[in-house]
Amino acid sequence: MEIDGMVANSALLRAREGGGGKGRSRKWKKMLRFPHISQCMELGNTIARDYSSLCVKQPIGRQLFCLFCQSKPELRHCNSLLDKMGEYEVQSDEDRKSFGMQIINRFLSRQSSECVQVVESYGKRCRESLEVWHGRDIFIDCTDDLHEYLSGDPFLQYLQSMYFERFLQWKMVERQPVTKHTFRQYRMLGKGGFGEVWACQVRASGKMYACKKLEKTHMKKRRGEAMALNEKQILEKLNSRFVVSLAYAYETKQSLCLVLSIMNGGDLRFHIYNIGPPGLEPARVQFYAAEVCCGLHHLHQRNIVYRDLKPENILLDDNGHIRISDLGLAVKLSEGNLVRGRVGTLGYMAPEVIGHEYYGISPDWWGLGCLVYEMTAGRSPFKRQGEQLTEKEMERRIQETEEKYRKTFSSETEDFCRSLLTKDPRQRLGCRRCGVEGVKSHPFFSTVNFRRLEAGVIEPPFKPNPRAVYCKDVQDIDEFSTVKGVILERTDDDFYTKFNTGCVAIPWQTEMIEMGCFKELNVFGPQGSRPPDLDW
Ligand code: ADP
Ligand code: MG
Ligand code: MG
Repeated sequence: MEIDGMVANSALLRAREGGGGKGRSRKWKKMLRFPHISQCMELGNTIARDYSSLCVKQPIGRQLFCLFCQSKPELRHCNSLLDKMGEYEVQSDEDRKSFGMQIINRFLSRQSSECVQVVESYGKRCRESLEVWHGRDIFIDCTDDLHEYLSGDPFLQYLQSMYFERFLQWKMVERQPVTKHTFRQYRMLGKGGFGEVWACQVRASGKMYACKKLEKTHMKKRRGEAMALNEKQILEKLNSRFVVSLAYAYETKQSLCLVLSIMNGGDLRFHIYNIGPPGLEPARVQFYAAEVCCGLHHLHQRNIVYRDLKPENILLDDNGHIRISDLGLAVKLSEGNLVRGRVGTLGYMAPEVIGHEYYGISPDWWGLGCLVYEMTAGRSPFKRQGEQLTEKEMERRIQETEEKYRKTFSSETEDFCRSLLTKDPRQRLGCRRCGVEGVKSHPFFSTVNFRRLEAGVIEPPFKPNPRAVYCKDVQDIDEFSTVKGVILERTDDDFYTKFNTGCVAIPWQTEMIEMGCFKELNVFGPQGSRPPDLDW
């Protein structure tokens, strides 16, 4: 590796190690300074008074509502109870019963000092159900009732409190304009169709992200604007641990930028082909397939077809969990409708896509079949490694020939792939009436606990080396060509404005909490009457 490459890598590694506030700028408090409460009035008057959005979904909102509840004797233990009931659902089967008992004894028993009065009546019923059946839904009614109660009077009181004023102040910070100065830039991570992807770090918090740049001139020349906006608008509505999240969208003079969860562990293509003999061991195949399955389910529940499933688009994070990335081809189906369109990557396209038929989510389940096949066999199902094929021949094989299974496939894995690689989408696993449940309950997944997997509490079978940079050396990534003769006009601004929306609420708030900024800045004055205007 050349010296520039080594310097670029070690700068990135140093930044990645940061933690405990190390990567923050010296001026970080100034960057996140709260506006005076009088400047938040307009926001306060226009923000939708929606309990679920303000106190459950938005992480900072949730924290502040929690602090509010703790300040009221009658609400003091509500949030701990909600947290514990959530944890109950993801306990392992062995631990669940005793965990449930602890919850009941602590919060749902009159004699306990932490008893939550409003739902105390659930204690007896929950205790009985726990004896006979310690399934996941024992506390569901209690949870719903508690939220119902909190969304009434307590919520109205919260809106009058200093905690909600503080929430508005955080929201104003969240809404500050985002520019290239918001970030520090490190090495290039890869190259896409419209520009480069760089590692970057938020100066105010120290959090690392990947910045996908879409060059304006390239997009204009190749009419990629609608596609870019589509990718951005789909990403900003998602919130899944199995799909990359979008934390910021902003523009510079030359490009539009999507700031995404950074995935330091490389893509699955790299892991299948560049480390040892091609292919992955069965435990990894099963784990990645299960996480991809959850990611696809998240998209499908929102009527989104992904359409680009292939090893290159599945990325690993520091711990070895995967996320689906590159949603440029994803499309939202309008209610109950199908789409048509020959998109995807040759070799991974489903027969119905090649055949120009109307389809719903079926191409994604075909894609999962290709992925599991490729991870297991170390080659794609319809092409030997290194084989040169014409487009026509590739299409013929996909539509007409049957893939071969060698002894590396266990009988469950073979059956799983065959069911997903069924040519007729109506007969395919995942597309029949039982939908995703059919996929999850296939014997291939018999040892996977999806409830725990979805909660992120399963240890991945492989952890990437924290000292390694799992991408091509900087010099080996081809230079991005420049486009000449394209002039950007005023009419393009409308589209740029739709794109340039700054912070995305949930990921930004998560960043503030995770990086410790929330805790350090969210101090209240003595007696906690009204938050003081912090001045640094
Ligand atoms: P395109 O849509 O133009 O194909 P991608 O989203 O696939 O662009 O990104 C191009 C390349 O950048 C990827 O192949 C990968 O190497 C790298 N990359 C993309 N997103 C991330 C990320 N979130 N973390 C790390 N690297 C990434
Ligand atoms: Mg790509
Ligand atoms: Mg793309």
